[in-house]
Amino acid sequence: MRFETHKVVNSRIGEVDFDHLTFGETFSDHMFQMDYANDEWQVPKIVPFGKIEILPSLSALHYGQSVFEGLKAFRDRKGGVNIFRPDKHAERMLHSSDRLCIPRVEKDLFVGAVEALVTLDEQWIPKKKGTSLYIRPFTFATEDYIGVRVSEKYTFFIITGPVGAYYKEGFNPVSLMTSGEFVRAVRGGLGEAKTAANYAASLLPAHEAKKKGYSQVLWLDGVHEKYIDEVGTMNICFYKDGTLITPPLEGTILAGVTRDSVLQLARHWGIKVEERRISIDEVMASIKDGSMTEIFGTGTAAVISPVGELFHKGETVTINDNKTGPLAQRLFDEITGIQVGERPDPFGWVRHLDI
Ligand SMILES: *Cc1c(COP(=O)(O)O)cnc(C)c1O
Repeated sequence: MRFETHKVVNSRIGEVDFDHLTFGETFSDHMFQMDYANDEWQVPKIVPFGKIEILPSLSALHYGQSVFEGLKAFRDRKGGVNIFRPDKHAERMLHSSDRLCIPRVEKDLFVGAVEALVTLDEQWIPKKKGTSLYIRPFTFATEDYIGVRVSEKYTFFIITGPVGAYYKEGFNPVSLMTSGEFVRAVRGGLGEAKTAANYAASLLPAHEAKKKGYSQVLWLDGVHEKYIDEVGTMNICFYKDGTLITPPLEGTILAGVTRDSVLQLARHWGIKVEERRISIDEVMASIKDGSMTEIFGTGTAAVISPVGELFHKGETVTINDNKTGPLAQRLFDEITGIQVGERPDPFGWVRHLDI
């Protein structure tokens, strides 16, 4: 797909220290931009990454009408570039957009825009093992109006930026805690949309968890505060008696692309998979009796994030001696191997660009 393109005069790439990349701070030279007005998307274009002008009355700032995605592009070890499951991310953004009354960016356009932007800023994809180009598509309401209703104007952006290896000091397990006080989502709410509001709801509890020495909150369902939902930036998997268990997609959790990749691989390997409700009591009991040997989060940022410690109601349990388990390791190696073209891609996940 070709788009009207305004290239930067001077690239900023020389200013970037590719050996010390931190997530979310560095952005590539260009961005994709498309406005919505008069009931339709206007001409898309690629322009230099830079400031945008807004008024304080911008509706998204007040009522949070916004959705986003997060995906990655990698250097293929044999040459070219791989984008991981862009179609799946495009589909999820359709669902999120529908829930937030935001106009849809059709799948082909979404994928074509990502490809065009990655191709133009190909130099920004870092080369070291474990690194990638993070791609952030998002749409938000841009009408200058502070009445509460569906906005009539939007902008869809895609920005990208190089990110370093998530695991710099090895594949170390994280610690999680349940929140005795807060919930993240309830059925019928926004939990299954990738939208700003879910993060707004999670910031205070996550901040408090950090202060107590835990890396993230393990969310329990908002009704019974009993069944596991997810981690807020990751979905969660349990390995118990040789079965991989993960909470079902029942409206409160995000349908993670990594979650889907993990489930497909596990089934492909002949591992029994159950998408079912699992209570915190079952988790605590089966860690203690030794039947649950692994817990790990799944998400685009870390791919697999082993959980070594879990705090719930005054009690802390340790999983697999606070060490990464063999299934987490195997899934991590396989998915990251597919992403960089080192392992076969039996499910056609990778969109390869010959650049
Ligand atoms: C993005 C996200 C995830 C992980 O989804 P992936 O597609 O695997 O990156 C999980 N939970 C929430 C709430 C998220 O926003």
